[in-house]
Amino acid sequence: MPRHQSTAAQRARQAQRKTGGKYTVELRQTQAGSRPGPFTLGQLLTACGTAPDWTGENPVVTPEWAPEMFDFAPLGGPVPYSAVLLLLGLLTPTSRSTELELESRNGFHSLIVACSGRRFELVLSQDDYVTERCRVPGCELSPVSAHSIPYCALRHLAARSQDELVEMATGWGNAQREEFSAQNPAAVPLGEEGDQLIAAAVAQCALFPVQAALIASAYERPDMVDVVYFGEQAVQVQHAMDTEYFRLMRVAAATRTRIQKLAGGRCACGAALQIGAGPKVPPQFCSAVCATAAGR
Ligand SMILES: [Zn+2]
Ligand SMILES: [Zn+2]
Repeated sequence: MPRHQSTAAQRARQAQRKTGGKYTVELRQTQAGSRPGPFTLGQLLTACGTAPDWTGENPVVTPEWAPEMFDFAPLGGPVPYSAVLLLLGLLTPTSRSTELELESRNGFHSLIVACSGRRFELVLSQDDYVTERCRVPGCELSPVSAHSIPYCALRHLAARSQDELVEMATGWGNAQREEFSAQNPAAVPLGEEGDQLIAAAVAQCALFPVQAALIASAYERPDMVDVVYFGEQAVQVQHAMDTEYFRLMRVAAATRTRIQKLAGGRCACGAALQIGAGPKVPPQFCSAVCATAAGR
């Protein structure tokens, strides 16, 4: 029998059923007013280990499906033990003094908590449900990759600077190489995540540095292939790098076309947009002059 169906908990819950309603009201008031302040990882860890079970009634799920919760005011009310344990796991290695802060809470449905620029959604109506969110506050979308590419593909990745995109490309390439190169260093996939980095790079006029970073980190620096690999393997790795290079060029061309189509095929000045206006010209402008005039 699951813990949450134990008769003791049920009895306690029945006894506290009345306070459950009050809790919801209080929670709503908390949300209407100011957010609770930041707290440390150590405080959350201590509360998770020592706080008594919350015995109120979960207004979102029936008692037999409700997760075991404990009350933690800095997170705006009761939170499931299992979700907090998962969150603590996702945050390791982190010191006990690391600060967290509640960004928003939607009653007993879910909450968003931020830590060192990372954002996590905790579902409050079931066990074991924590997902990382795009790093831009308020964004509901998932990041392209929680570890290496922590922004959503739809909106926020394409707004990052060239330096950040290069750093993310290197992180992603290294992670893929670590995972896949042991069997065959020529068979490291850059995947859809690589394509999304390229699409963002096109929007930022950063195609070549991002493409180079992806390929060098996933395979090898072009001038080092013959030093690191020998014979047939060097040929295979070189071939994989060339294949990926041309594939990413096609992804870039498709992205440019898509951005220009969204712009209606015209630059703000009225001139028709074309592919290849220059490496430093964003796809939605006809020239560097127009891009500069528009603040790009
Ligand atoms: Zn986002
Ligand atoms: Zn123009």
